[in-house]
Amino acid sequence: MTLTHAEYKAIANNIRPNGQAFIDGKFCDASDGEKFETTNPATGQVLANVAHCKVADVNRAVAAARRVFNAGTWSRAEPEERKEVLLKVAALVRENAHELAVLESLDTGKTINDCMDEIGGEVVNFFQWYAELADKSFGKIAPTGPSALALIVKEPAGVAGAVLPWNFPLVMAAWKIAPSLAVGCSAVIKPAEQTPLTTIRLAELMQEAGVPDGVINILPGYGETAGKAIGLHNDIDTVSFTGSSEVGRMFMRYSGDSNLKGVGLEMGGKSPFIVLEDAILDDELIEHAAMSAFWNGGQNCSANMRQLIAAPLVEEFTGRIIDRVKAFKLGDPLDPATDIGSMITKDHKEMVMSYIQSGVAEGAGMLMGGESDFPGHFIKPTVFENVTPEMKIAKEEIFGPVLGIMSVKNAEEALRIASDTDYGLHATVFTQNIDQALHMARSLPCGTVSVNGFSEGDIKTPFGGYKQSGSLARDNGTEAIEQYLQTKTIWVQTKNT
Ligand code: NAD
Repeated sequence: MTLTHAEYKAIANNIRPNGQAFIDGKFCDASDGEKFETTNPATGQVLANVAHCKVADVNRAVAAARRVFNAGTWSRAEPEERKEVLLKVAALVRENAHELAVLESLDTGKTINDCMDEIGGEVVNFFQWYAELADKSFGKIAPTGPSALALIVKEPAGVAGAVLPWNFPLVMAAWKIAPSLAVGCSAVIKPAEQTPLTTIRLAELMQEAGVPDGVINILPGYGETAGKAIGLHNDIDTVSFTGSSEVGRMFMRYSGDSNLKGVGLEMGGKSPFIVLEDAILDDELIEHAAMSAFWNGGQNCSANMRQLIAAPLVEEFTGRIIDRVKAFKLGDPLDPATDIGSMITKDHKEMVMSYIQSGVAEGAGMLMGGESDFPGHFIKPTVFENVTPEMKIAKEEIFGPVLGIMSVKNAEEALRIASDTDYGLHATVFTQNIDQALHMARSLPCGTVSVNGFSEGDIKTPFGGYKQSGSLARDNGTEAIEQYLQTKTIWVQTKNT
């Protein structure tokens, strides 16, 4: 249920965020007592002093996670038991959704409506869905002759590490925690340093739901300390990372430099939104174009920032998208009337502004947008026309509200430009021609292709990237649990009787 601005502000005034780490069932400070501040990017207000976890804390958390894994309390519990506990987590998240959403909005600068959708919707759904999978996933039996029985058995991988980004903090935590715990792993989670608060609050709810001590551990901290220690730990069996391709690359190296742990990577993108000549240019298409670019202020890995529009439609498309984007309201993220909140940090805002300047310098036509004088780190939704493939704003992930319109001659040119990138996360195609739609969908080298609408899919469909947007691992769907499972063959010689 949506509340009013005043009601959300009242919740915000009463929140006292917990900034402690959660290790082996206890909230605690970092071993050396160090802390760092987390602030509200929309106001600069300090929200909490947070435990600055480092190697010693990661070691403590992994030891606890290993102890409980080996004891079998969770890893060998009846699947129905894990299911019940995770369903309780879902129920507690739902019960506390308003408070969690306000906390998320304060810590990220995201709009309260998005936070409500993500937490009251997606996070609850994640815990429910993977809870239900706990007692519904089976192994296989291979065909053999009568002298053998060949069982293909899935076992929890052990201790799972996860290192998370700041753009969807609690959703990303749920993406990793729900499937890993459902199959019986213990987990060691590092939220992004900018946005630790909802993941710490989740630990309180997980404890209340009955997750045993040591099964879930939350380590707020920085990448170069806690993140690296997770990547390099010799007793973590698998690590799932979401963030930039640059850091994803490091996780591959950490694995090679330590115990060759499994590495699942979900990384950046530069996704195209393609409108072919026969597409129906109606309000629905424009809404999808606008949301694909400006949802979460463009701080979205699958944001469709390269909009490749068939030449005869470019003028009309440009006029209509400008009209739509002008209607977006920037403002207090806790106001349900706000569409676009703050960028995550001052540095990030400056980085996005430097891309806007480079677009102007390279000759793209800036039609609207730029810096906002609203206090905090706000940038107005920005639209460029006449973008060409070699421009920096056409090639690099901006991770901010900067949409570039490119004119294309035909489907083949659209396909060529769309594919000419190191990324491969997502693409959208609009066309009335089913053959053309399927040709594009099959040819685009990316993990998700959305036809006649912008969508990342849903919980049932795997999400991840081709090329430098991902590894072979996938989040979501039944595919996600593969990141947290080992496969064992049990070959039983049988006697004919
Ligand atoms: P980032 O790579 O800077 O940080 C992600 C996480 O890695 C953080 O927890 C950070 O502390 C940690 N980290 C940073 N340096 C590290 C190091 N040297 N060793 C170990 N850990 C380290 O990314 P970000 O700025 O938080 O997020 C933005 C990026 O995430 C974008 O590129 C975006 O596309 C991507 N992203 C991808 C998906 C997806 O599912 N594909 C989803 C959300 C975000």
